[in-house]
Amino acid sequence: MKALFLGTGAADWSSPDANGEYRRLTSTLLDGRLLIDVTGTVRDMIPDACAISDVFFTHSHRDHFDPDALNALAPCRVWAHESWAGEIEGPGLTVMPLRVGGSVSAAGFKITPLPSNHSTPREYETTLHYLIEKDGKRLLYATDGAWLLNYEYRCIRSLQLDAAVFDATIGDGHDGDWRVFEHNSLPMLRIMVSTLKKTGILRPKAPVFLTHFARTLHPAQAALEQASEPPFVICRDGFEAEI
Ligand SMILES: [Zn+2]
Ligand SMILES: [Zn+2]
Repeated sequence: MKALFLGTGAADWSSPDANGEYRRLTSTLLDGRLLIDVTGTVRDMIPDACAISDVFFTHSHRDHFDPDALNALAPCRVWAHESWAGEIEGPGLTVMPLRVGGSVSAAGFKITPLPSNHSTPREYETTLHYLIEKDGKRLLYATDGAWLLNYEYRCIRSLQLDAAVFDATIGDGHDGDWRVFEHNSLPMLRIMVSTLKKTGILRPKAPVFLTHFARTLHPAQAALEQASEPPFVICRDGFEAEI
């Protein structure tokens, strides 16, 4: 499967940063057909909007769910957790409620929703990560969220992942930042990914793609890349990976 990272920024990217760099809000396109999250910021990054048949939302935060951007993609199927899916509407949209652990088929993929360590102002909402499978390859898509929940770990511990995408909102040198209770920091990711490798859940050569970088909590892309070591891949807008 091909993953095209349309946008790689967290919610605070409304303008270029001090280095003059800019990230669109986080959204990822798989094989040109299946879109995970969408906002107006990534409109210019979508190669062929007509080819998108399914949009999966991880959660309803405004940096992931933008009703106007979604409606511009109609007709399409829209997938979200059943706790808030009923609030999505628009001409040409077919809304498909999801349940944790309930696998569905869409755009040639098998998708299994898993609960994430995150929350929104909709207190009743269950926020999601996704286990995504196609052609014998398995990807964990884990943004937004902090540490993997124990339930999520138990769902993946007997599997082998070919790649993972993680929320890397917080960079190095921000110890004490309150966002660790809803997002990952780079130190947290090193611990978690080393454990996923040692337990064999992540295959030995499986890359870990990082996205959802906060504007104020990271240096420029070049500095981030220089400080990074495999298996981490520092995604930028427009980066494409074959998984
Ligand atoms: Zn976000
Ligand atoms: Zn969020």
